[in-house]
Amino acid sequence: MKAARFHDRGDIRIEDITPQPLEAGTVRIDVAWCGICGTDLHEYLEGPIFVPAHGHPHPISGEDAPVTLGHEFSGVVSELGEGVDDLAVGDHVVVEPYILRDDVYTGPESVDYHLSDDMNFIGLAGRGGGLAENIVVKRRWVHKIDSSVALDEAALIEPLSVAFHAVKRSGVKAGQTAVVGGAGPIGQLTAAVLHAIGVKVIISELSGLRRQKALDAGVADVALNPAEVDVVAEVKKLTDGKGADVAFECTSVQVVFDTLMDTVRPTGVIVVVSIWGKKASFDMHKLVMKEIDVRGTIGYVNSHPETIALVESGKIDLKPFITGKIGLEDLVDKGFDTLINHNETAVKILVSPSGKGL
Ligand SMILES: [Zn+2]
Repeated sequence: MKAARFHDRGDIRIEDITPQPLEAGTVRIDVAWCGICGTDLHEYLEGPIFVPAHGHPHPISGEDAPVTLGHEFSGVVSELGEGVDDLAVGDHVVVEPYILRDDVYTGPESVDYHLSDDMNFIGLAGRGGGLAENIVVKRRWVHKIDSSVALDEAALIEPLSVAFHAVKRSGVKAGQTAVVGGAGPIGQLTAAVLHAIGVKVIISELSGLRRQKALDAGVADVALNPAEVDVVAEVKKLTDGKGADVAFECTSVQVVFDTLMDTVRPTGVIVVVSIWGKKASFDMHKLVMKEIDVRGTIGYVNSHPETIALVESGKIDLKPFITGKIGLEDLVDKGFDTLINHNETAVKILVSPSGKGL
């Protein structure tokens, strides 16, 4: 079958590979759609980061580059391994793409399995990927979705779960106000979750296209251009002088973080959602004098069921965030190139590994 494999920085190849064997307790999924993630771009431009470099196998998967890419995908169950009796061939599913040690407790009460030692992701550190015609995944990480949810939209449930977990980390409640710094894919989806649970959303974003996307999709109440307006003053105006209750940093840009420190009210919470490749600085005195909480967030933990429910119920419409659809052969030339060089025109580009649906 065809698969997109990461060999090294700047070296992704579409190759013919042998499908993974179906083992007891696993499920084979014919991939319908797989999104290209910012993480994939980082691997391509600056990696290997999450990908285990050739000769340095990942301690859990035992695999090293080349590995199949793709961790944001939807598909249809095509084969069930021995012992899997709660799914059926033909079910529509999404995958929570974790690679964790076998002794990590991943039951419904766990709030930290995603923070366990050597955690990594399917589609980055081995165990196949969504940028292939099919993939075999352990039953634990397969989530059934209602067939009423379009499979292209379902491919966005993985990044939406990232947003869902970030929102949960903030502790924000309905009726409160949130500032989202940066309206790339994760900023847009964070706004979507906030809006769905009744939070007033103010976006700060330089790109006019992205501001318009957030307004058109109905996920932002206000979209500010930080090059034109004083974001801190505007947020104060919009919150009766009080400041925002929570803020989400979705850019890994220092000045955005600094602005968020000024937009939150005393005892406000800032959640850092983006991945920072460098050290940041911040005004410790401000943190102390306003009793601000700065919180990290990574991935998701038991977040998929609630995230899927938000999509199935229609509270979140993912269609507006799909801005392109391509085949596997065009992954680098059309997909990566657009996201790297013209990223304000795109939110989420989906790949159809089989070519179906294009
Ligand atoms: Zn991702």
